[in-house]
Amino acid sequence: MAVESGNYDVQALRRDFPILDQSVHGKPLVYLDNAATTQKPLAVIEAVERYYRQDNANVHRGVHTLSQRATDAHEKARATVQRFLNAKSDKEIVFVRGATEAINLVAQTYGRANLKAGDEVLITAMEHHANIVPWQMLREQLGIVLKVAPMNEAGELLMDEFAALLTPKVKLAALSHMSNALGTVNPVKRMVELAHAQGIPVLLDGAQAVPHAVVDVQELDCDFYVFSGHKLYAPTGIGVLYGKQALLEAMPPYQGGGDMIRRVTFDKTEYAGLPFKFEAGTPHIAGAIGLGAAIDYLEGIGMAAVAAHEHALLAYATEKALEIPGLRLIGTAQDKGGILSFVLERIHPHDIGTILDHCGIACRAGHHCAMPVMDFFRVPATTRASFALYNTFEEVDALMDGIREVIKVFG
Ligand code: PLP
Repeated sequence: MAVESGNYDVQALRRDFPILDQSVHGKPLVYLDNAATTQKPLAVIEAVERYYRQDNANVHRGVHTLSQRATDAHEKARATVQRFLNAKSDKEIVFVRGATEAINLVAQTYGRANLKAGDEVLITAMEHHANIVPWQMLREQLGIVLKVAPMNEAGELLMDEFAALLTPKVKLAALSHMSNALGTVNPVKRMVELAHAQGIPVLLDGAQAVPHAVVDVQELDCDFYVFSGHKLYAPTGIGVLYGKQALLEAMPPYQGGGDMIRRVTFDKTEYAGLPFKFEAGTPHIAGAIGLGAAIDYLEGIGMAAVAAHEHALLAYATEKALEIPGLRLIGTAQDKGGILSFVLERIHPHDIGTILDHCGIACRAGHHCAMPVMDFFRVPATTRASFALYNTFEEVDALMDGIREVIKVFG
């Protein structure tokens, strides 16, 4: 078993996550489905509970004390996200339901306003469906063309081919920062530079990257950045669209309704300023507060320490997995986040997932909402273990024992 480095106290951190302390099928729970959603620390659970116990009211509309408190907490969370991403202004932080809604928002507002038939949107071969389907819908609506930058057998983007695809026809590049199916971390700073050199704006899908790395949107210079709170130890139903202020200002609103207006008459509506123009209706106030608490919690540990821990787990898991006969890793990029996707000869991933569950191990088995990635690797599905800040080397050992058990059952 590998040893913990530095003074990263994983056992102390695990005590912050009450859900981890339970048995499944009589075995200690080993939660390795973090790329799907992460567990929530007490700091988040308590922040949400405190809000509902003490401050619950609608935001932005009331003069009464509870409404003021709710509004302050909601806007404080926005400022926390701004700081976390190093955005220039909190006007650039739009709260949405998650990465999926953020991408749809950009497709339906920026896309509809700026793209026309024949224009191209460039994505990569490793996108999640959330960064494929919204562009296909735009293709149906406007007649745009979807181009796909290819990858190699390791699951690494072919940078020369990517650069060659950045022609004047491309009006937007929508790119995965980190692949949820493979773990590949793309060289997004370089990709943004290449796209900008051709005058092409870039949206980065950070749903997987944000929980594992320091993201600085000014340093990346991306035009849009999206992520989901629930993969970052925050509640479900809250996510973020970052957009450069000038772009957001020029974009039409997404949905219409309360909160996104300045003045409404039956003849005409004047929209609110940023970011409220994009936040129609009552927002997920408790979710935003939970997201702020999750970021505070993560920053308390240090994103660099979390990333180092997860890298150590991935390196250890990769080494151990490669010792198992018949196991094939799907996604062997040089630069990877904490995701181990694999197949076993002649054993379907769903059977693997079911037996692992009986060992108390939660892994994902399926196409991971990335069917084109499965097609590329000529597999119907993979089993995916994904690591978070609270996972341990013992849990990696348990996973390897579980995989051996699967082979024994089917062997
Ligand atoms: N993009 C990537 C890379 C993802 O992994 C996911 C979720 O798995 C999404 C987008 C969509 O996130 P959500 O379902 O939270 O909107």
